[in-house]
Amino acid sequence: MGRGIEEQAPGFALGAIGDIVGLARKASMWPVTMGLACCAIEMMATGTPRFDISRFGMEVFRASPRHADLMIVSGRLSQKMAPIVRQVYDQMSEPKWVLSMGACASSGGMFNNYAIVQGVDHVVPVDIYLPGCPPRPEMLLNAILELHEQVKKAPLGARRDEIARRVEAAALAA
Ligand code: SF4
Repeated sequence: MGRGIEEQAPGFALGAIGDIVGLARKASMWPVTMGLACCAIEMMATGTPRFDISRFGMEVFRASPRHADLMIVSGRLSQKMAPIVRQVYDQMSEPKWVLSMGACASSGGMFNNYAIVQGVDHVVPVDIYLPGCPPRPEMLLNAILELHEQVKKAPLGARRDEIARRVEAAALAA
């Protein structure tokens, strides 16, 4: 009986290629535009010369999800907008990551009511949560650098759900 995919070692050559691909991926992430509310202002400020997100290879926010591998959900998510966020996520290229920016995106924040989704993880899988109302650009940059650690370790050729399963298994094993 064959081993499960989680137990299979990639081998030296494939492991080395995977490391290089991981470094390349994290150095050239393309975020899709997903500004939903006031947190988006801080996200936009992160793209200005003062904070210089281009240092990390991601200064151009993509209008097409087909060209993006990172979704920064910045702001509260209304019930009406939720299916659109999911559709955009589904149209993004594999592998892909999601950053939940701010209290509202992560938990509904102050908007504990029928109109607002109480956390974007009800709609899309979230890889990293960033607290704050709103988080400062420096905090967003820090979250992106933390996310880079996940991106670097993403297995070669793996799809989004498989990466999430492996990250969860590694966290349980730690
Ligand atoms: Fe606006 Fe604060 Fe909510 Fe961000 S966390 S969307 S700044 S209310």
